[in-house]
Amino acid sequence: MREFDYVIIGGGCAGLSLAYELEIHEKLRDKSLAIIEPRDEYKRDKTWSFWKVVSHNFDDCVKKNWKNFSINIPEKTNYLNCENFPYQSIDSGLFYEKINNKLRENKNIFFFKDITKINLKNSFIFNSVPSIKEDYQNLWQHFCGIEIETQDNFFDDKIFNLMDFDCEQRESVHFFYTLPYSKNTALIETTWLSKLNDNSKKDYDNQIKDYIENHLNLKNYKVIYREEGAIPLFYPIDNNEKNKINIGTAGGMTRLSTGYTFLNIQEHSKYIRENIENISNVKKFKIYAKYQFLDEIFLRVLEKHPEKMPDIFFKMFKASPKTVIKFLSNKSNFFEELSIIFRMPKLTFIKALFY
Ligand SMILES: Cc1cc2nc3c(=O)[nH]c(=O)nc-3n(C[C@H](O)[C@H](O)[C@H](O)COP(=O)(O)OP(=O)(O)OC[C@H]3O[C@@H](n4cnc5c(N)ncnc54)[C@H](O)[C@@H]3O)c2cc1C
Repeated sequence: MREFDYVIIGGGCAGLSLAYELEIHEKLRDKSLAIIEPRDEYKRDKTWSFWKVVSHNFDDCVKKNWKNFSINIPEKTNYLNCENFPYQSIDSGLFYEKINNKLRENKNIFFFKDITKINLKNSFIFNSVPSIKEDYQNLWQHFCGIEIETQDNFFDDKIFNLMDFDCEQRESVHFFYTLPYSKNTALIETTWLSKLNDNSKKDYDNQIKDYIENHLNLKNYKVIYREEGAIPLFYPIDNNEKNKINIGTAGGMTRLSTGYTFLNIQEHSKYIRENIENISNVKKFKIYAKYQFLDEIFLRVLEKHPEKMPDIFFKMFKASPKTVIKFLSNKSNFFEELSIIFRMPKLTFIKALFY
């Protein structure tokens, strides 16, 4: 069986981001890498969006940037500017193509469909396949989105809608999310923050159809792409093995209050690349403990009082958008955090500390 210096388990967002980062910084010139990925072909399957608070390697895979966004609850809309940190949407199809083209140039990089073909004994392993214990108490962000095309111009592509809570909540937290890529194309998503075991919320196609036709009042459109998924809003199991680092969702790179993961994955890849020569001895990269603590309280409130969440999100964005974006992207300072905490219903959050 063959041996490799490095093995990446899972050639998805985190696995490929890391391989690309190592490759472009010439860390694989004298080292071998095996990527274990079961999929038969790479095609567009996700849209990764985020506020660009740090630079990354994939500006050329960005489908669209926005400098304005809105958030709304019934009867109220807040229009916000994000010029300092534009919101970006990455097309996973372009991302996979760019990375795979680059990795193909290096003869030290090999792809395998399953792990049984290689000997892991002397390798350093980067694992992106999460180990998730079934627990019906766990919260998930589950969602489905479709990209639609209209014949005539319909959308204002200068502004995206981050959260539209003007929809049924079914004792959960539910919102629609609209990313207008152009005047006649947009990604429209239905998102639920809840326990994944509730199948009654998975009538996604009906929800989106109803929203488009009866809320946006758009009758003539064509569906050109569909994505569906679920992001765990809890940390997967990490067994802390000496020769292994978990990356991506498996490595705790998801911000639990929002599901944002992509930029954390990029920062983690950079950290690993900077420390690759001494990787078994360096401190593990983590999202700061303060965010883990604040998110945990936030999720307790969400679980206990889902009916309050539209208002809580709406109020949060009454702080300066720059502050909220930095907070949601793990880049805020103490004063910025205070300015957000002060906008939250204090008693509800204090009680959540003791649940
Ligand atoms: C539909 C969708 C949309 C998302 N949108 C956003 C967003 O807008 N912004 C954001 O920040 N985050 C978003 N996320 C969250 C997160 O960024 C993504 O889930 C991201 O793909 C996580 O990267 P990953 O490498 O951990 O997992 P994946 O990208 O899922 O990669 C895991 C890889 O492991 C492979 N694999 C599975 N089983 C095995 C096995 N047994 N052995 C080897 N390989 C295996 C899979 O085929 C896959 O390629 C989204 C998630 C989903 C599901």
